[in-house]
Amino acid sequence: MTDLKSMSLREMTEALEALGQPAFRGKQVFTWLHKGATSFDDMTNLPKALRDKLKTEYYITAPQVARKQVSRQDGTVKYLWELRDGNCIETVLMRYHHGNTVCISSQVGCRMGCAFCASTIAGKVRDLTPSEMLDQVLFTQLDSGLEISNIVLMGIGEPMDNLDTVLKFLELVNHPDGMNIGMRHISLSTCGVIPGIRRLADLGLQLTLSVSLHAPDSETRSRIMPVNRAYDVEDLFAACHDYFKKTGRRISFEYAMIDGVNDHDWQADLIAKKLKGMPGHVNLIPLNDVVESPFKPSKRIAAFQKRLESHGLTATVRRSLGGDIDASCGQLRRKAMEEARKGECSQ
Ligand code: SAH
Repeated sequence: MTDLKSMSLREMTEALEALGQPAFRGKQVFTWLHKGATSFDDMTNLPKALRDKLKTEYYITAPQVARKQVSRQDGTVKYLWELRDGNCIETVLMRYHHGNTVCISSQVGCRMGCAFCASTIAGKVRDLTPSEMLDQVLFTQLDSGLEISNIVLMGIGEPMDNLDTVLKFLELVNHPDGMNIGMRHISLSTCGVIPGIRRLADLGLQLTLSVSLHAPDSETRSRIMPVNRAYDVEDLFAACHDYFKKTGRRISFEYAMIDGVNDHDWQADLIAKKLKGMPGHVNLIPLNDVVESPFKPSKRIAAFQKRLESHGLTATVRRSLGGDIDASCGQLRRKAMEEARKGECSQ
């Protein structure tokens, strides 16, 4: 059985032509799937014989809501979806003034090992498929009844560790016959996998690249982010400069403020020095307290921001949403894993 929704319009058209169908059938099926059809019998403009044939060769993904939490503070919604194989993933819907934004996962778990992050504690289980990424946007829109206008790839997983799939997903979600979400409304966040950044630069997509910096010096960064031992921060800065030169697009740097670890003034000075020549934007994130982690939130966020600004950088402090519903960084999935004995999800 083949996952039909992971196919591009072209692949779908070819597959249907191979079944002796006219070319326009591909677009018909594509449109149904991207509207959220979950069964071939919903596709009423297809001949019955074709629907029956498709049922024998293809399946349609449709994640189930395993848990849904709505923040009473700000309307943020957190979904825990159960996939076909029993694995669970998280999606967060945030209601910003500039539009409804979904934060989606790219993998089940993560193998990057950042010391402060809940998503990576149990490692990576598997990559998501293009359809499983698309479904997070599609079914969040259908379930909530809210039109999604922005996507951030900042949920569980490292997008650059599953880049072929992510690129396929971008093609699908951006398609005019599908959800038609513009590249300029999409952000992709990486912990600093340099070959992925370079590949993205060559593609010249209009999306926004976010880099999880978290420390500008090798020593600190290697301590909190094992990826730095493979891709050193010096090379990462060089890749970011090249990315800007190639695409002309401003990079956003994520910086989770950790008490006594990465919140010193000299580190702000070093960030400014390394970003010279490129219009970087630093997004300071109040550290979310992860129970399993020894790190504590910094008390120097405002001072650090001022210091960055004194060098002419733009720095913002991220507003924290959904604080009452475990809305950040793998926390809901971890809770569900702990409670798996109740039989909610297998992962
Ligand atoms: N793997 C990608 C995307 C997922 S993480 C990446 O690393 O960019 C999304 C963001 O949340 C990253 O910047 C990550 O470093 C940050 N993050 C993880 N745990 C956090 C925590 N406890 N507090 C604040 N930010 C955290």
